[in-house]
Amino acid sequence: MTSRTRFAPSPSGHLHLGHAFSALYAWERAGKNSENFVLRFEDIDFARCKPEFEVSIKEDLNWLGIEWSVEPLRQSERQSLYDAALEKLAEQQLLYPCFCTRKDVEREVQAAVNAPHGPEGWLYPGSCRKLSINEQQERQNSGEAFSLRLKMDHAVQRAGNLTWIDRMVGEIPANPSVLGDVILARKDVGTSYHLAVTVDDADQGINLITRGEDLFHASHLHRLLQALLELPVPKWEHHPLVLDENGKRFAKRNQSVTLGYLREIGTTPNEIREQLGL
Ligand code: GLU
Repeated sequence: MTSRTRFAPSPSGHLHLGHAFSALYAWERAGKNSENFVLRFEDIDFARCKPEFEVSIKEDLNWLGIEWSVEPLRQSERQSLYDAALEKLAEQQLLYPCFCTRKDVEREVQAAVNAPHGPEGWLYPGSCRKLSINEQQERQNSGEAFSLRLKMDHAVQRAGNLTWIDRMVGEIPANPSVLGDVILARKDVGTSYHLAVTVDDADQGINLITRGEDLFHASHLHRLLQALLELPVPKWEHHPLVLDENGKRFAKRNQSVTLGYLREIGTTPNEIREQLGL
């Protein structure tokens, strides 16, 4: 089967060598066919994302020889899809409002003995899950900001045993519990990376998700969300990250590895591919 892949950058900076690797990797897996390659702007961090970065991302990708047939989507314009997904989870009684600030949670985690941690840091200790329905409603009605969290244990129970396939690794038992009661709708944006990416990948017919291995653990949760939302199940490939000479990931502020700069100093797309081993 032909793979339909995507490259989904946040337009909050210029592309660097790490992005180039990820984009070229997806492009290879799409058979270098513009019909099978989707560009999506993950711009839910409204304050950091800027239209000029979208322009520069498109220019850089075209310069690398990457093309797409479908006009790129912006997650900021797709809230109605995310709302529908949240509604479906709410109908299954799998969500609860959480009024905690990051500081509240950090304080609670620090005070606890043996607070559980996962791959993204501490797990939510569940304070707001204990609120009564009345208390939840009163606080919502008073205009207090809230996020929506997943009742992970109930969700896992409902979905049953799940597996997913990373083509580099094989079949993997899904273990989303490592992320605890994750936020699916943030206080500020009404969705989250995990929800938006799962909904969009299904909506855009992506059947092979390629992305950096730093997001490997996220796929456990995305597989769970696919089951709960009755979405088709793609395959995954998590590729190694490109690191600098100190073994660190490239920072967006590091100008010397942006594709724009490399182009300016005369580097060719072929040299970039060679440097990246692609
Ligand atoms: N916007 C995410 C990033 O740039 C995309 C991750 C993904 O491919 O799912 O890291």
